[in-house]
Amino acid sequence: MTPALVDTHCHLQLERFDADREAVLSNALEALAWVVVVGDDLESSRAAIEMCGERVYATVGVHPHHAAHVTDETIETLATLAQRPDVVAVGEIGLDYHYDFSPRPDQRAAFERQLGLAARLERPVVIHCREADEDLAAVVEPMLGGLHGGIMHCFGGDAAFAERCLGWGFHISFAGNVTFPKAETLRDAARVVPMDRLLVETDSPYLAPQPVRGKRCEPVHVAHTAAFLADLKNVSLDEFAQRTSENAGHVFSVNI
Ligand SMILES: [Zn+2]
Ligand SMILES: [Zn+2]
Repeated sequence: MTPALVDTHCHLQLERFDADREAVLSNALEALAWVVVVGDDLESSRAAIEMCGERVYATVGVHPHHAAHVTDETIETLATLAQRPDVVAVGEIGLDYHYDFSPRPDQRAAFERQLGLAARLERPVVIHCREADEDLAAVVEPMLGGLHGGIMHCFGGDAAFAERCLGWGFHISFAGNVTFPKAETLRDAARVVPMDRLLVETDSPYLAPQPVRGKRCEPVHVAHTAAFLADLKNVSLDEFAQRTSENAGHVFSVNI
C-alpha cells in the first residue's frame, strides 16, 4: 500500500469551508494519513479543537496579524485550550512584516510570549514568518534552550535562512507556493532541507499548488505539492510520503 501523506497545516475551520466542511474533511481523511487544523486567534483555535477527532489534530495560537490584541488573559486562555487532548502544538505564531496588520513591537511581544507558553507547556511551535527573518531569529535564538521543536510553516525564506532554521533543530514545511513557476528561491531552500526535516502542507484554503492554483485549496491538494517536492528531492513519492509523515509524527508526537 502507498504510504499516506499528512497535511501538517490547514485552516478547515474557516468560513471558506462552511458550505462543505464535512465533505472536504472526509475526502481528506480518505486520501491522507492525518491532518492538523491550525488556529490563528482564540476563536479559530477553539473551532480547530472542535474539529478534532479520529486523525484530526489542532493547534492553538495567535497569528501575528492579531498580535495587537494579545493580553495576559489571551495567553492563559491558550494555556487552558492547549490542555485539551489532540492539541499538538502552539501556533501559528510569528512575525508578518509583509502585511504589518499589527505594529511590529506588538508582533514581537506576542510571538515571544507564545514561545514562552510553548516552552512552559512542552509543546512544539508552528511558526509563520513573512519578510521578517532577522527579527524572527532575534526572538527565537535566545529562547532555543526551552523549546520543544518547531516548524517553519509555509517556508518563505532562502536557502541560507532554511539552514539557519535547521540549525535551531526545526523542521521546514513547504506549501503549494513552492510549485509556482517563479519560486526558484523556495526551491533552492527545499534543496538544502534534509529528508528527515522536511514537511509538506497546504495552508488551505490559501496557496493552492500547480495545477489547481487559483482555486480554493483543500488538504487533498497536498498530493500535488508532495509529488513536486519528491521530484525535486529525487525520491519516489512513496518514500517522500513515508519520510515526511514520519517527520510529522515525530514533531507533533502523533503515533498513528
Ligand atoms: Zn501562516
Ligand atoms: Zn496558516
